[in-house]
Amino acid sequence: MKNNPIKIGVVGVGHLGQHHVKHYKNLKNVELVGIFDTDRKRAEEVSIKYEVKIFEELKDLIEKTSAVSIVTPTPYHRNVAELCINSKKHVFIEKPITATLEEADRLLFLAKQNEVIIQVGHIERLNPALLALKPYQIKPKFIELQRLAPYTSRGTDVPVVLDKMIHDIDILLSLADAPVKTIQATGLSILTDSIDIAHARIRFENGTVASIMSSRVAKDEVRKIKIFQKDLYATIDLLIGLTEVYNIKAEGSKDSNAEMIVPFEYKNKKQFIAYEKPTIISGDPLKMELENFILSILGKETPIVSGKAGRDALEVAMEIQRMIIQDLH
Ligand code: NAD
Repeated sequence: MKNNPIKIGVVGVGHLGQHHVKHYKNLKNVELVGIFDTDRKRAEEVSIKYEVKIFEELKDLIEKTSAVSIVTPTPYHRNVAELCINSKKHVFIEKPITATLEEADRLLFLAKQNEVIIQVGHIERLNPALLALKPYQIKPKFIELQRLAPYTSRGTDVPVVLDKMIHDIDILLSLADAPVKTIQATGLSILTDSIDIAHARIRFENGTVASIMSSRVAKDEVRKIKIFQKDLYATIDLLIGLTEVYNIKAEGSKDSNAEMIVPFEYKNKKQFIAYEKPTIISGDPLKMELENFILSILGKETPIVSGKAGRDALEVAMEIQRMIIQDLH
């Protein structure tokens, strides 16, 4: 049986929102009903470029849709999302889910009450280099996550923890897959009044330890993850899209994927290190996220980053930020 298309609206069509519009125009099972932006000139540019209707009032757009992408600056996520959810519309909210944890909890409560989906745009979860780890049993003992970016004025209205580090916090929570036990954090302001460089050490209930570092005052962009666990070491370069895995295997075990095999002997036991570069299936992560949102509404998938996951990443980010601010005073 053919599904009726999901009627979608995009609220906020700035730098990122225009790409939501572009993808929805081409996605299967979607009818892009229109856009709303408080900047009329910006709305017109996007309307002309993508041939999409502008709504003068947010409530009129919401009324015509069954789901909405919210791509406004973060301080407005809560108000727009609350209006949508109270009208029983599913929402895709760009990251971070909201500006405060209380707001996120409120949205989760309302979504449950109204039986709608909240999905959060933690796009790095769909980075093909990270997805390439799927065939491996990842049970990290230690994880290092590093995200450096040159300074731009974009995103500086929020501290680096909420702007950049939250991407890695979300990835980390999904890899560690256990409650957070302790957090230690430090950071500093360099170019802005808020935190520009942050570092945190996070210990999880299952013994996993993570070191996570983000900066927005670096010379070059870096987005790297290193995973250390018994019998496996993996490096993931999210920027260039390269994943490398080193596995320790017993002599005689088959490994057809290994590019290089280094034998070694320890305590009379012959083993080898297999080095492999898992295949990276390229794809546009934003398109994949939005496809996942539509298929989740249709009941064929579940959101890769749920509202709860977005809320949990925010909680850790807020705690890191609180500790850094305390440390600075
Ligand atoms: P932007 O400033 O380029 O665009 C925001 C747009 O929203 C503007 O056109 C503005 O006029 C409009 N707007 C402001 N208030 C509004 C309101 N109340 N109702 C409707 N429209 C409103 O910002 P951006 O860089 O596109 O960021 C938007 C959101 O996306 C932010 O939450 C940001 O954190 C997030 N973001 C996520 C990623 C990612 O990697 N997932 C990357 C960039 C931005």
